[in-house]
Order: sequence, then C-alpha cells, then structure tokens
Amino acid sequence: MNLPHRIAATAAPGASPGSVNLLGLDRPGLAAYCADLDQKPFRAAQLFRWIHRQGVADFAAMSDLAKSLREALPGRAHVAALPVVGEQLAADGCVKWLFDVGAGDAIESVFIPEADRATLCISSQAGCAVGCRFCATGHQGFSRNLTSAEIVAQLWYAEHQLRRLGAAQGKASAERVVSNVVLMGMGEPLQNYAALIPALRIMLDDQGYGLSRRRVTVSTSGVVPMIDRLREDCPVALAVSLHAPDDALRSELVPLNRKYGIDELFAACRRYLERAPRDFITLEYCMLEGINDSAEHAQKLIDLIGPQGPQARADRGLSAKVNLIPFNPFAQSGLKRSSPERVQGFAAALQDAGLIATVRKTRGDDIAAACGQLAGEVQDRTRIRARLLRAAVHWQANPSLAGRGIAAEPGAPEQGNAR
Ligand code: SAH
Ligand code: SF4
Repeated sequence: MNLPHRIAATAAPGASPGSVNLLGLDRPGLAAYCADLDQKPFRAAQLFRWIHRQGVADFAAMSDLAKSLREALPGRAHVAALPVVGEQLAADGCVKWLFDVGAGDAIESVFIPEADRATLCISSQAGCAVGCRFCATGHQGFSRNLTSAEIVAQLWYAEHQLRRLGAAQGKASAERVVSNVVLMGMGEPLQNYAALIPALRIMLDDQGYGLSRRRVTVSTSGVVPMIDRLREDCPVALAVSLHAPDDALRSELVPLNRKYGIDELFAACRRYLERAPRDFITLEYCMLEGINDSAEHAQKLIDLIGPQGPQARADRGLSAKVNLIPFNPFAQSGLKRSSPERVQGFAAALQDAGLIATVRKTRGDDIAAACGQLAGEVQDRTRIRARLLRAAVHWQANPSLAGRGIAAEPGAPEQGNAR
C-alpha cells in the first residue's frame, strides 16, 4: 500500500448516520448496549476484547462472536479510528499523528519511545479554553470537547498500528507497544470530564489495554472540583501544571488560577494523594526566561512545596516531584525558553533543598511534537481545511516516512473496516 492510497482510505468515515462508535464504550457501557440487542454480558466482554486487545474493527472477522451479534451490529454500530491527515516520524523515534476530527478541527497525538517505556501523549479537546500564555493550544482557543470514542481512538490507532509495524519487522504481533498514556496533548482533560472517565476506564481495563493506574497520567491546569471527582471515580496518576510559585504570577500565566488559587489547588492535591496510585503529585513547571526562572522563584517554590517524606506539611506543603519543562517557543507567544544553565541551576536549587526535580528532555523537536507545540498546524481555524490539505500533501510527499516503514505497512487498521 502506498501513501496516497492510505490518505484516501483514512479519509472515508464509512459509518451510517446514527451508528455508535463502540470505541467509546467502557465494559459496562458495552454490556448495556449489548443487553439492548438481547445479548448476554459475556458477549460484550468478547466484543470488547476483539476491539481493544486485538484491534479488530470488522465485526465479520470476530470469529467466536455469536452470529446473531455479528449480524446485528453492522449499520447500528461501528469501530472507527479518526481519519489520519498527517503522520511524521522524528529522528529520535517519536511519531506524531494529526487526526481530523471534523468541521475543520484537528488534534494530535505523539508516541514517545524510551529505553524502559513507550508513552503515548493524547489530546482531550480540540483547542483549549484555559488560555495559558505559553501554550500554543491555549492561543488557538477552544473548539470542542472530544468524545470518549475520539479519546480512545488515539490509543487504539497508535497501539495497533505500531503493533502491526512491529510484527512486520519480526516482533511478536501480540507484544504490547504503548506502556504509558499521558493526557498532555491538546486540551484540558478535567474540562471534558464526562468523556474522560469512560476513556480512562477502557485504558485501565485488563480486558482492554490493561494499563495500571500509575501508568496513566492526567495532567491538569488545576480544575479543583474535578480533581476531587477524579479521586473518587478513577484515581490515576496526577500531574498539575503549576508554572509559578505564587498566585500573582500564576494568574498571569494560567488564567484558571484566578478561580482556583494555589492554596486551594494544593489542598485538592493533598486530598487526591489519599487515593492516588503514587505517593506524590507531579508538578510541571515550564521554564520561561526572565518570567519564572530566577533564584527567588526557585526559593519560593521550595517554600511552597515544603519538606518531603514523613515531614511533609499537612497544611500547605505537598508530597511532589517537580518536572521542569524547557519552554517550547512558538511564533505568537512573545516568550523565550530559559537557558540550559538557568534550568540546571533551578533544578539544582530544588534538589539541594531535598526535592526531586527532573528536567524534561525535549523530544520530537524536528516534528514540533514537544509540549505546547501541538497546535502547530492548526492555529488558524478559519484556514484549517487548507492546512490539513497541505499537511496531507506534505506527508505524501515525504519519502523518509515510507522509508522508515511508518505508514506504508500492510494491515493498518483501516483495512479492518476501521473508518
Ligand atoms: N491542559 C493540561 C494538559 C495539556 S498541556 C495542562 O495544562 O496540564 C500539557 C503540559 O504541557 C502542561 O504542563 C503545559 O503547561 C505544558 N506546556 C504547554 N505549552 C507549553 C510550551 N509551549 N512549552 C512547554 N510546555 C508547555
Ligand atoms: Fe490548555 Fe493545558 Fe495549554 Fe493551558 S497548558 S492552554 S490548560 S492545554
């Protein structure tokens, strides 16, 4: 299969109007759906495994499914990935996909392989309403919430596409590819809560992707009431985008801070830790030159987080690990990345005070796949059609992708009636 063929294949949705995309139903949801078709719960479990474990989209190919169910599903249900309009492979092995979610909107997912894990960074919304100053998605504005099916579709596609590619290169075809999922792509996941929860449950389900709670991370700019609900409904690993050690600066960088200030946010984090799969919260801190990267800022941050271990303060401090993210610049931001020396100095100050602080490696630089750059191709929504088209043409014309085996392998999900 050559690249142009695949663009054509992925662009065809092929589902009848009113048909349900089963990718968005967690196991209880699928059981209820099957019950409406007079099917027993174990049939729903079979169907769930075919879809998520095997990556099969064609009901006719689900060989041990009752014939009555195989015949009842087409027309009223389908299993569909999102149309892929771009796929880029970075020199360091990262893969970025641009998915068309209709009405001129596109979202991105990034696969990040490392020695001991392989992380998929996925999106939860087309655009974002929070409007952080340093974020390309925030500058783009909010378009709409993704559905559960659209959130899961990113994992379904990446997992099974990469598995097939691995199999074609001689790896065991059932070998799991994605070991970790982070909701750090476009959007604020806790402002799309209703769709997020079933999607998380599908990721954690041992009949689905079987990811442990500590291997799925929700990153939030601090939607306090929803942090409390997540703790009750599906406590996965939590990352909080802090970016500033005091309310005045944080409110400038993350406008949501005007609604939920740092004290309130930290209190919610401490409540979250009562149920969290890890005994710390990851605090993300984007390093911006001359804005939040001085020795004073580091000291304020140390005081804010407080002592760690058994001495962690109950009132204000927090058991946390700090992840420093060098700012990834984009045209309209007017902001600059802190120098590597600044970032290292900041990290050293935190470490000297007994905090665990890491500096995030920048990955996928050559394909603009790093944090905050995910809106790259899609900022001007009025012209997105033209941009999507250009992205597709660029992708077709880029022989290095085919050369590396990405996108040119047989057996991609769309052949299984995926779209
Ligand atoms: N909305 C959520 C999750 C998506 S953003 C949140 O804000 O947490 C994922 C991470 O990327 C956040 O920590 C965010 O602050 C960071 N980020 C956004 N824009 C960035 C940029 N230009 N450079 C570096 N990190 C950025
Ligand atoms: Fe939205 Fe997160 Fe970007 Fe802020 S950093 S605008 S919350 S996606």
